[in-house]
Amino acid sequence: MKNIAIIGGGISGIFSAYFLHKSGHKVTVFEESKIGVECSYGNAGLVVPSHFEALANPAVLKKGIKWMLNPNSPFFLKPRFDLDLLKWIIKFNSFCTKKNVENNKYFLRDISLYSSSLYKELMSSDDFDFDYRNTGLLMMCKEEKTLKEEEHLIKEANELGLKGRILNQNELKDLEPEASFDVVGAAYYEDDGRVQPYDLIMAIKNYLEKQGVIFKEDCKIVDTKVENSKIKSIVDKQGNVYEADEFIFTMGVFTSKMAKKFNLNLPMEGGKGFSFTVDKTSGMNFSTPMILAEEKVAITPYDSYVRYAGTMMICGEDKSIVQRRVDNIRNAANKYINNIDIKQNQMQDLWAGLRPCSPDGIPFIGRSKELSNLIIATGHAMIGVSLGPSTGKIVTSLVDEQKPDIDIEKMNLYRF
Ligand SMILES: Cc1cc2nc3c(=O)[nH]c(=O)nc-3n(C[C@H](O)[C@H](O)[C@H](O)COP(=O)(O)OP(=O)(O)OC[C@H]3O[C@@H](n4cnc5c(N)ncnc54)[C@H](O)[C@@H]3O)c2cc1C
Repeated sequence: MKNIAIIGGGISGIFSAYFLHKSGHKVTVFEESKIGVECSYGNAGLVVPSHFEALANPAVLKKGIKWMLNPNSPFFLKPRFDLDLLKWIIKFNSFCTKKNVENNKYFLRDISLYSSSLYKELMSSDDFDFDYRNTGLLMMCKEEKTLKEEEHLIKEANELGLKGRILNQNELKDLEPEASFDVVGAAYYEDDGRVQPYDLIMAIKNYLEKQGVIFKEDCKIVDTKVENSKIKSIVDKQGNVYEADEFIFTMGVFTSKMAKKFNLNLPMEGGKGFSFTVDKTSGMNFSTPMILAEEKVAITPYDSYVRYAGTMMICGEDKSIVQRRVDNIRNAANKYINNIDIKQNQMQDLWAGLRPCSPDGIPFIGRSKELSNLIIATGHAMIGVSLGPSTGKIVTSLVDEQKPDIDIEKMNLYRF
């Protein structure tokens, strides 16, 4: 049994805590604010083997310039004088290639399917209750041109062994008889699903607390003491010192700064997104989550409300809410879904989160070479919830010095 300190209580931290506890370790989670309230709180909760294309891909680069000039676009880069940002942009652009997509698609498929299978396993465990549903995911297309692009992607998904097909308007009606959409068709990815991310995190936390896992909230870790190429202890803002055998950094986008102290270059930018929820009205009687393909808005139905999420603003660590971008999400939903007209006063739980985005769209998970008891797990960008269980499992394998169930070389900490 080892004494483990996890720094960062988002989805990556909580799943690491869960699997490390199950493996017999003594775990403490240190969280700067409250468990699960940062990027893991208001996201769309999609579990997406369909996202086998890395964020850095040619389509983003092609549309990037056009989007940059349009205040209503789903993607935006907030300029600032910062060498790290400049380096990140240069690297990101260099990865927006077909080659990067080809290089990573098998890995992203494998890790996503691995994670989905873990979600399904956890559903049948008695440890905690949560609501994962293998709903599938619709990529809703307003334009024929987009539907054609989706046809290519569905074909590629099928070649990768993923289940999916194109639905025409009638087939969409058969799938969702109680709702009506102003689209020409949709791609339907059957392996995908959804969870309620914050409810899930709280369910795991409550279970772990009863099992003796310690959660230290409002506890910002500001320093580390290193001895003999190992972290000896961490220090919080109040000066309290905590020792452990192994340290796991799951601090989302904030991990880079801490890692820099150990000469570890983990280039990451915050990819800011927004979300809000709306209590279900009659037009929202659909059960399949969807992404509005042209607008990049994710819509996730839950039992009594629907969450609307979107926008990717590359903006460092700025978490402020930009109302115009939020309104774009609302307007997009009103355009695609017939019989709804979301008004400002219906929007609840307005939220902004910073996706931890690496330049090649692949997470960073691995053990430090310089500090033998440091493990890092971050950089999941748009798929951190999707990859939550696999992240926790891989971290646990690293602590236990066992070979992870999947090859993790692509997530190598030293690739930049
Ligand atoms: C609009 C939007 C929609 C999204 N939709 C989806 C989706 O549908 N599916 C999906 O898979 N992903 C989605 N994502 C991405 C997903 O939310 C992230 O990938 C994921 O939440 C990252 O989790 P994390 O645990 O790495 O980081 P976080 O959740 O940010 O957790 C890191 C934690 O570390 C803490 N911390 C930082 N520094 C310190 C310190 N020094 N000391 C102590 N604690 C510290 C922070 O307070 C934070 O709680 C979406 C994101 C956004 C913004």
